[in-house]
Amino acid sequence: MKELISGIPEVQAGLFCAAPMDCGVARRLPVINPHTEQPVLELAETSADQVGRCVEKAKETFARGDWSRAPLLQRQAVLNRTADLIRDNLDEMAALDSVTTGLPYYRAMRGQAAAAAGWFDYFAAALGNMDERLFRQIPQANTLITREPVGVAGLFTPWNIPLMGAALKLAAALAMGNSCIIKPSEQSPLAGARLVELLFEAGLPTGVLHLVNGRGHVTGAALAAHPDVALISFTGGAGAGRFIARAAMDRFAKVTMELGGKSANIIFDDADYEKALKGSLTAVYANNGQACLAGSRIFVHRKIADNFVADFVKRAQGIRIGDPFEAATELGPQASRAQMERVLSFVDVVREEGGEILSGGGRASGFENGFYIDPVVARVESNTSRVCQEEIFGPFAAFMVFDDEDAVIAQANDTAFGLAGYVWSENLGRALRVSGQLRSGYVLVNTAMVRERNAPFGGYAQSGLDREGGRWSLDFYSEAKTTVIPYDDPYIPAPGKTI
Ligand code: NAD
Repeated sequence: MKELISGIPEVQAGLFCAAPMDCGVARRLPVINPHTEQPVLELAETSADQVGRCVEKAKETFARGDWSRAPLLQRQAVLNRTADLIRDNLDEMAALDSVTTGLPYYRAMRGQAAAAAGWFDYFAAALGNMDERLFRQIPQANTLITREPVGVAGLFTPWNIPLMGAALKLAAALAMGNSCIIKPSEQSPLAGARLVELLFEAGLPTGVLHLVNGRGHVTGAALAAHPDVALISFTGGAGAGRFIARAAMDRFAKVTMELGGKSANIIFDDADYEKALKGSLTAVYANNGQACLAGSRIFVHRKIADNFVADFVKRAQGIRIGDPFEAATELGPQASRAQMERVLSFVDVVREEGGEILSGGGRASGFENGFYIDPVVARVESNTSRVCQEEIFGPFAAFMVFDDEDAVIAQANDTAFGLAGYVWSENLGRALRVSGQLRSGYVLVNTAMVRERNAPFGGYAQSGLDREGGRWSLDFYSEAKTTVIPYDDPYIPAPGKTI
């Protein structure tokens, strides 16, 4: 493992800044391996001054046009080369994620790291197929609609998807010609840092991209509030999101917010039982249970509920918990002590509210170190329970029983969030009827944890603002410009008259 992360300690705050170290490093932050509970390295925090210098440099580079006006072919080549470099270094990229988050390494390699490469290829191709248009409604004139880069983009990623979060944002923002400042989570900053190195190796001009590291209220706040950051893409929790969105609104910067969720997973009695069982386990325990679109509120039809819950418990108890770097591991440690304690604190909440813990709910046995817990299965009295209303962000399944389609839809929608929803039914009419009524941005019918690159991703209500993915990313990371060009005997309206 060690050799896979060698070299990374040099990836420090401001490495990609104009004059990195002469500003001094105010604070070093330990980055903890959740399997060993030991520090992997110390992260140098980027000060507010350093953030300012990075933004200045990014703005200069943008104005010079090295990347913002680079030919499409050049931008596409850099993105495609980055995808190849990620694929050449898949083991290292996955290891950097696993060592800081506890995500199972082999799954991260096949899943997240491969998907990260895929986003670079996707946006390179999308760039060549952009929907720019020509209108002719004005007599003797062509009206061109083009997309142009916005300026300096501030990109914030959370700790649970370090590489994929960074890849999705960087691929789209750079494709559209923006200069970027990326701020990874201080808990899992390694894969983002390595990705920045790979982008430069792939030919990205100096000064276009900067990496800043540190705590949210220090480094993140400085980036969010900087007047020259013209666009912010934020993925994380509602608290930080609210603060950042307000800062962005003060200067009308463009903003997307990809926030948390508490997604309903509805299993009808006409579902394919085995598929629904397998899919529901994936929906709640994938990514160590730390997924924004986790289907953690599970509603099962009364007719199948007893068997379904019993089988779910049996399978949950069979999940292989272990060292993220062992091939057989299905569930690694929680990403931090705070996260582990938070998940376990909800066990008491279930009991206090009259529910029952059917399985798990304590620290997993057999580990001397590490933030390991047994996956939790709970039966709760009602959807008003705190475990149904708050995002736990861990391997915690809360079961409820339902009888009636309309009633279950109402309960599914009784939440402050609106990120995802799951429907299991072999009746296509019902699946369409129910999915159409779920107040959430992403609905999966008879499947779990898949993402279509062309589709928008994002949530209703407190799950966020706007969308990324596919053409929604291309639109978000660019400004629409209208240019009217008369080509023959131009009609010029008299003052006060328009057409
Ligand atoms: P977080 O909000 O604590 O942090 C996210 C990022 O914002 C980090 O880089 C952090 O340093 C920074 N930050 C925190 N406070 C800040 C502040 N005051 N000013 C500026 N920056 C600040 O989120 P997290 O705990 O890292 O991630 C977990 C959350 O992310 C969960 O709620 C999860 O559902 C959500 N998430 C959403 C999606 C999605 O696509 N909707 C995907 C993954 C995770």
